[in-house]
Amino acid sequence: MADEKVIEKLKELWTKYEEIDGKFDEEMDPVFKEPYYPGVAEKLFNPDKPMENRITDIGPPYFRQFLPPIIKKNYGKWVSHEIIQPGVLKYESETGDVIYVVRCGTPRLETTDYIREICDIADKYCDGYVRWTTRNNIEFHVDSEEKLKALIEDLKNRKHPNGSYKFPIGGTGASVSNIVHTQGWIHCHTPAIDASGVVKSIMDELFEYFGSHKLPAKTRLALACCLNMCGAVHCSDIAIVGIHRKPPMVEDDRIQHVCEIPLAIAACPLGAIKPATVEIDGQKKKTVRVNAERCMFCGNCYTMCPAMPIADGEGDGIAIVVGGKVTNRISPPKFSRVVIPFIPNEPPRWPTAVKWIKHILEVYSQHANKYERVGDWIERIGWEKFFELTDIPFTEKSIDDYRLAYTTYRTSTHFKFTKHIEIK
Ligand code: SF4
Ligand code: SF4
Repeated sequence: MADEKVIEKLKELWTKYEEIDGKFDEEMDPVFKEPYYPGVAEKLFNPDKPMENRITDIGPPYFRQFLPPIIKKNYGKWVSHEIIQPGVLKYESETGDVIYVVRCGTPRLETTDYIREICDIADKYCDGYVRWTTRNNIEFHVDSEEKLKALIEDLKNRKHPNGSYKFPIGGTGASVSNIVHTQGWIHCHTPAIDASGVVKSIMDELFEYFGSHKLPAKTRLALACCLNMCGAVHCSDIAIVGIHRKPPMVEDDRIQHVCEIPLAIAACPLGAIKPATVEIDGQKKKTVRVNAERCMFCGNCYTMCPAMPIADGEGDGIAIVVGGKVTNRISPPKFSRVVIPFIPNEPPRWPTAVKWIKHILEVYSQHANKYERVGDWIERIGWEKFFELTDIPFTEKSIDDYRLAYTTYRTSTHFKFTKHIEIK
């Protein structure tokens, strides 16, 4: 479609949206307008007739009802933005309207008291409107410089009793913004590490990079507590992944009762599991056997089968991967790669992992060019130079040995001599 036709089509769709929005406000059933009003569900639910009054498939609330009026008015009409200080953005519209946005870090895992406090702030300065970002920061919108100043002052002074900032301002531009992370020991049954604890330890150490713009480019950190990689670890500048180092146990006496054995067998990426039969108290029981030599401790079998637990205090820990990104800016998106294969779990502050992450960030900051993401920088200097500059010991664990591994080996005589190479 030619550009003009695309624009025409968009305008047409937009007009339709505006019509829907008008009707939406007038015609909406109050039950749907306040879908999370706790009283509604309670009033409608009768445990003796669970299907009576059942509301289903209503989807999320329509987002436009939560837009601040100035954003609704200028939707699709913004012409420019600038970061006026770390954590504070200014947007200008073709209508001449201006809006300021203050971005604050959050721990993601939040109490209702904390959310109520956010709502109080939004009521005081933003007519009750607030939003969360895709990295779980929050953003407050204000329409004047006076309100902006008052809001910033207020946010700076809010602290938890232990001294931590409740609403640290930052996360814009060439900074370390919030860490995208997972459930950890708070809620999941397959983790090899914790999430919230590690993230707090890292953000404490990197706090100065959250509220400043002193890095060559934005640096995305992410954490996943197992190789399921919920979130963004596979595509982040620096990421932490929880790993196991021992094969799963097999609970022979109950596996046939709690697992679909073929599912467990098919879950293994390395074909390390085979069916078996054992005799327990004179009874034949179906079970599996794991070839420990083939197992790479991914934990997939445990995800499928609760009788194959794999977590282990000493065996579990952190792997650090670097160089991923999702944006197409200058270079294509990249996967992150393993550079540190194992660091033990050290709750509650994970000092070794934190030290290495800070070190990688600082070496990158010192050597990369402006606009270079971590992966761009490494590709320019070469992985061997990355290992030399960061003093990370290179191990065979960083050499791919899975199926398409061949494409990751060096099929060229281009390389740089580094201190890792001994010339005799
Ligand atoms: S990454 Fe793994 S352990 Fe963590 S929340 Fe996801 S599935 Fe659970
Ligand atoms: S942990 Fe992974 S590699 Fe090992 S047996 Fe289970 S599925 Fe296979």
